[in-house]
Amino acid sequence: MTRLSGYLLPTEKQPPADAEAISHKLMVRAGLIRQMGAGMWTWLPAGWRVHQRVVAIIRSEMDAIGGQEMLMPVLQPAEPWRKSGRLEIEELFKLSDRKGSELVLAMTHEEAVTFHVAQVVRSYRDLPLILYHFQIKERDEPRPRAGVLRTREFIMKDSYSFDRDQAGLEERYALHVGAYDRMMERTGLRFYRVESDVGMMGGLGAHEYMAPCPAGEDEIALAPGYAANVEVALQNPDLHKSGEGYTIGGQELSIEPAIEVGNIFKLGTRYSEPLGASYLDETGSELPVWMGSYGIGPARIVAAAVEQFADEHGISWPRALAPFAVHLVVIGAADSPERQAAEEIYETLIAGGIDVLYDDREAGPGEKFADAELLGCPLRLTVGRRAVESGEIEVQARRGRRAGSGLPLGGEREALVRAVGELWRSLP
Ligand code: ATP
Ligand code: MG
Repeated sequence: MTRLSGYLLPTEKQPPADAEAISHKLMVRAGLIRQMGAGMWTWLPAGWRVHQRVVAIIRSEMDAIGGQEMLMPVLQPAEPWRKSGRLEIEELFKLSDRKGSELVLAMTHEEAVTFHVAQVVRSYRDLPLILYHFQIKERDEPRPRAGVLRTREFIMKDSYSFDRDQAGLEERYALHVGAYDRMMERTGLRFYRVESDVGMMGGLGAHEYMAPCPAGEDEIALAPGYAANVEVALQNPDLHKSGEGYTIGGQELSIEPAIEVGNIFKLGTRYSEPLGASYLDETGSELPVWMGSYGIGPARIVAAAVEQFADEHGISWPRALAPFAVHLVVIGAADSPERQAAEEIYETLIAGGIDVLYDDREAGPGEKFADAELLGCPLRLTVGRRAVESGEIEVQARRGRRAGSGLPLGGEREALVRAVGELWRSLP
């Protein structure tokens, strides 16, 4: 499926001069992303494969709770934003068309989805609803930074729930908590669901999904069985000062940097009232729709995974996110028996439905191994003279750089596919 000799994977020995975050350095070096401007990034083919793996996980969990996928525009009239009171937000890009009509580039889609629901939802029979899309968001961030962790344009999955009352909202919210927990578990990331501080916004409740990582801008407070935003932890009545640090319920508190990867909110009628989203109940009374909004950013999940599992040699993907399952390396000249053996393995694995990146380039082992460790596919199979002589394909798991027992060369095709599949399932 993919031969490195013809694949766009521009790896680099040096990180960009301005890069500080591990994910920024490694994702550029591994040929996954390239920058076009401040906070503007292109996903190259291997990087996009990882991004789309996250998207697939999110989509399947949204569908499982009854979410209905759709697509709303990025370019929008300014009017709904004026109605919601958000037109003045500094992050919002504003523009006008050739006729002078005021437009915005959406930074989120509460206004758009509520605009539609106001037009099409009539009665209590039309509720509840969970609507979602994967769409580009544009934000004039004051400080784009750290590669794809904070960009001015990014893809978000945002879903919106619509209910008759607060009890319905609580139900839809609980469904999202379950879906988000499962999404995050499936990515293989280390994460915490923490209550956010909604006091300031007068909200009804919200949670953030935080991934601990060195480049994170937020801080979370952790103790056994406890995880919270630092601001929330500091307001906890059970918090006590002890020496240099704090304890909560007698347990020592540690503070870790983390990045917010997802955010879920009980909105109530904050948008339905100004935008006129209402319904008629059984008695014919007109009531505002109760809403929730739920965001998650695939790019941040990708970058957080890089940050959490990288070592000094490069990226080490959890298998759910890896661009390819197997990185097959051949060491040998054209027409050598090694080449012939590697070609056969490549064909066999593809036929067996395994995602393989085949390094068939005319390059030395040093360069090939360095690129394989940089890219971080979970399994590396190597076919060189030693393999041909011993009759065993060399196996290495990327995580921990562990050598596995060799796989038989030239045996039954199905046996090789089965053995690789088993190895794969044993990985983190
Ligand atoms: P932050 O506090 O980090 O700015 P936010 O509260 O503005 O995040 P939301 O508006 O809740 O973020 O967006 C939902 C999700 O979209 C976030 O959890 C994150 O995964 C992603 N996201 C938000 N801003 C960015 C950005 N500038 N670049 C990449 N992803 C982003
Ligand atoms: Mg923000």
